[in-house]
Amino acid sequence: MSLLDVQNLEVHYPRPGHTPFKALHGVSLQVEAGASIGIVGESGCGKSTLAKAIVKLVQPSSGRIFYDGADVTALDRAGRAQYCRQVQMVFQDAMGSLNPRMTVAATLLEVLHVHRVAMPSRPEEAVAQLLEQVGLPHEAASAYPRELSGGQCQRVSLARCLALGPRVLVADEPVSALDVSVQARVLNLLRELQQRLGLALMLVSHDLAVVRTVCDYVCVLYNGRIVEQGGVTDVLERPAHAYTRELLAAVPDVDRALARRS
Ligand code: ADP
Ligand code: MG
Repeated sequence: MSLLDVQNLEVHYPRPGHTPFKALHGVSLQVEAGASIGIVGESGCGKSTLAKAIVKLVQPSSGRIFYDGADVTALDRAGRAQYCRQVQMVFQDAMGSLNPRMTVAATLLEVLHVHRVAMPSRPEEAVAQLLEQVGLPHEAASAYPRELSGGQCQRVSLARCLALGPRVLVADEPVSALDVSVQARVLNLLRELQQRLGLALMLVSHDLAVVRTVCDYVCVLYNGRIVEQGGVTDVLERPAHAYTRELLAAVPDVDRALARRS
């Protein structure tokens, strides 16, 4: 049984005076515990819609999402609370996703309060440990978001996810807003956390090079449909779908792009 099992997911956005806009058409995919899956496709193809549906920020119009065998739309209160702790999301705009009036330490502790997780007996140590896990110095605890770089803010967002002990991390374009020079470091951190903590990682990106750095498996999304999925090396070396070949052509040399980043 897969940890996440998405079956025939449809998302229709209402449009006043029009028929609803169909952002996802019958999307099905599975994510195994501890696996890393990339969702790739051009802007507007439905990647964020899929990510948001999985973390329950968007309501599916039809289809099912199973988590650990349970239908996510039919969870009771306790089940929903557990799901929302265990399936965490990081966003493209890292700084914007942090409260500008809260220090890093307050941010990392507040999330426990929001999710009704017991405060650790030694909060400062818990904060220090989280910072260490994402490669930030302990002094970052007292910093405000505006005092941090984009890359550091993304590390804080990751630490905030980790505070809840997730099993799944959904990262929506987590490095697209960062300087090219720091992208590789944040991607390496994602990969390292995924492997060390045994997280299932769903990495959403318009950039094939990003997905290839981090993921073992890839789904290619085109106009709200998965047109191709498989092992990342297979798909990138032998793309079966014309659209995947187009995406590849848009990254003239994936290896060169990667080398520039590291
Ligand atoms: P991606 O992340 O791949 O760029 P999105 O999932 O954000 O794609 O969007 C897919 C499509 O759905 C786009 O055409 C977008 O305009 C539309 N869309 C996204 N969110 C909404 C919304 N809240 N209401 C109406 N249409 C939306
Ligand atoms: Mg998006």
